[in-house]
Amino acid sequence: MEFIVNQDLSSLHTMGCRSTAQSFVVVYSLPELKSTLEEARQRALPITVLGGGSNVVFSEHVPGLVVKMGILGIEVLENFGSEASVEDAEVVWVKAQAGENWHHFVRWTLQQGLGGLENLSLIPGTVGAAPIQNIGAYGVEVKDVISEVSAINRNTGELKIFDRDECGFRYRDSIFKRDPGKWIIVEVTFRLSPKAPLKLDYAELKKFWESAGEPSSYLEVGALVEEIRRRKLPDPDVVPNSGSFFKNPTVDDQLYQRILDEYPSVVAFPSGVNQWKLAAGWLIQECGWKGFVDDGVGVFDRQALVIINPGYRPAAAIKGLASKIQQSVADKFGVELEIEPFIL
Ligand SMILES: Cc1cc2nc3c(=O)[nH]c(=O)nc-3n(C[C@H](O)[C@H](O)[C@H](O)COP(=O)(O)OP(=O)(O)OC[C@H]3O[C@@H](n4cnc5c(N)ncnc54)[C@H](O)[C@@H]3O)c2cc1C
Repeated sequence: MEFIVNQDLSSLHTMGCRSTAQSFVVVYSLPELKSTLEEARQRALPITVLGGGSNVVFSEHVPGLVVKMGILGIEVLENFGSEASVEDAEVVWVKAQAGENWHHFVRWTLQQGLGGLENLSLIPGTVGAAPIQNIGAYGVEVKDVISEVSAINRNTGELKIFDRDECGFRYRDSIFKRDPGKWIIVEVTFRLSPKAPLKLDYAELKKFWESAGEPSSYLEVGALVEEIRRRKLPDPDVVPNSGSFFKNPTVDDQLYQRILDEYPSVVAFPSGVNQWKLAAGWLIQECGWKGFVDDGVGVFDRQALVIINPGYRPAAAIKGLASKIQQSVADKFGVELEIEPFIL
């Protein structure tokens, strides 16, 4: 495989930071990926895997080899039960390759009349990255419909198929994220259904359809989610960003009660025994950051969870602002905010 030297990565991730990779390659098939890994091993090049670049903040120089996943393909598996057609089936297994654009794949499933992914419409990125942080939105996480994940061990070249339990999914987390240097996801199999109930209970979704009219198909739910997201989140093609910059923190009951006493409007949801998930956006907003912009980086004025980079500033500037936000939230609420995107 030919590796490109000093590849400009600026347009290959959504945060807009100026960046170059020591070497770069796009792989379009499993054999290409395997031979690339072998060559990188021989040349002692550390590997960074890249999907759509929507959850990474690249430093000015990325050492080693950046491997962009370009493997494409979507396939409905034959063994979808004993039923004669997809429409009659209770469950339909669909396999998608890692390089497929996530939103295009979701749209395709909805157009086939298959339910399960509609609430995850318009999330940027690729199929292969979706399991990494167990992407979620509007009351659904991708783990709810993942059946299997196939991944290559970067060190041995072994292909392993993980069933859902083996993926160790948690909130914005999986074993692939917890063990970052080990696996490259090559394909994901989803368990979808033409009979899956619509999931419309998530508060923000409900508020919207109660005034706009209740959706009655997967495609209509997908369109509704797209509309809400377009209103709420900045388009990375217009304003560079990587979506939510912080995870919603979980705190124990004692800390939650202390915050609630002082700030009765705190946005929180029960999350397990004596645990509460706090809305990180609310915490950041209460610290006065919403709409703040300085020296080309800032906080989106409609959603405080999103750091924006209209000045196309380098990763150091993003990290600097993120630390200040973390410090102010810790000082005011005693809560630690964890960064969601990968700083590479
Ligand atoms: C505007 C906006 C809105 C967003 N909204 C949401 C949301 O609602 N919910 C949500 O969960 N996320 C959201 N995100 C985050 C992001 O879209 C997801 O995390 C997405 O899955 C990232 O996909 P990607 O292909 O761009 O990954 P990349 O950014 O390219 O990579 C992310 C990480 O995964 C690794 N990786 C990528 N592909 C593979 C692979 N095939 N095998 C192994 N490792 C891999 C990379 O090395 C990196 O560490 C949003 C981002 C933006 C910009």
